[in-house]
Amino acid sequence: MAINIILAGPRGRMGYEAVQMITNEESFRLVACLDHKHDGLTVGELEQFRDDLQVPIYTDFDTCLKQHQADVFVDLTIPEVGYKHTKTALQYKVRPVVGTTGFTDEQLSELKELAKEQKRGCIIAPNFAIGAILMMKFSKMAAKYFPDVEIIEKHHDQKLDAPSGTAKKTAELIQDVRESKKQGHPNEEETLPGARGADMNGMRIHSMRLPGLVAHQEVIFGGAGQTLTISHDSMNRASFMDGIKECVNQVMDLEELVYGLENLL
Ligand code: NAP
Repeated sequence: MAINIILAGPRGRMGYEAVQMITNEESFRLVACLDHKHDGLTVGELEQFRDDLQVPIYTDFDTCLKQHQADVFVDLTIPEVGYKHTKTALQYKVRPVVGTTGFTDEQLSELKELAKEQKRGCIIAPNFAIGAILMMKFSKMAAKYFPDVEIIEKHHDQKLDAPSGTAKKTAELIQDVRESKKQGHPNEEETLPGARGADMNGMRIHSMRLPGLVAHQEVIFGGAGQTLTISHDSMNRASFMDGIKECVNQVMDLEELVYGLENLL
């Protein structure tokens, strides 16, 4: 039986790719979309999509959820609304797969609690690119031997949150094996504020924002006489679709919230 999906953010760059992926996948059915405009239109009536996509668009999530029996809700929007959408979906016992980044720790724990109460799967994945997940796993392996590490994440200049969810997640995984340690010279001074990047237990994270970039990260380890760089590049948003597909399938068998695709691969 097909998995019925509601997608929020169909006009976005991720959302556009997700519409293509979901509608090309035999076992998925896109039953409705959620947007903050174009209420009452169909996706096919929007300029960028094929005319035959007879998928209704809603601006009110409650109405959408009452009119369509959905199994999974995919959110690819912005942090403020993504959080509210995820909460509403769980209240209706629809399983969220969330790619929207920038949720706070409080929001994540609240959603975790709600998913448990509702006995519904929920996946929040700051990065759906399988190569990026491997980069994080390899970084954790390396950190055991190289405690001096800096993360440089580079994204397009329309990204709203910094550092990226992937950079934070990588730092958290590294923290599991790295003892807290202040890096650099003990007396170092920033003559321009922010020059040394964000500080996470002494580890530094730098965020670069430029047009032309998509999603890239380097994790650079330094040791006596050597450096080790683990890097990953997403060239376009198609790189995230295999991960979304995997999550939509796996969330059907979960009864709790899982944060990070690395916990599912
Ligand atoms: P984007 O192109 O800016 O798309 C965001 C879309 O959300 C836009 O179409 C926007 O509409 C729409 N939107 C805003 N408010 C909304 C609302 N209330 N209801 C429904 N839709 C609403 O951004 P993107 O590059 O596609 O990224 C989307 C999200 O995914 C971001 O949070 C980004 O950080 C994240 N992301 C995650 C991954 C991953 O692997 N997990 C990868 C890339 C990006 P307007 O344009 O009209 O405002």
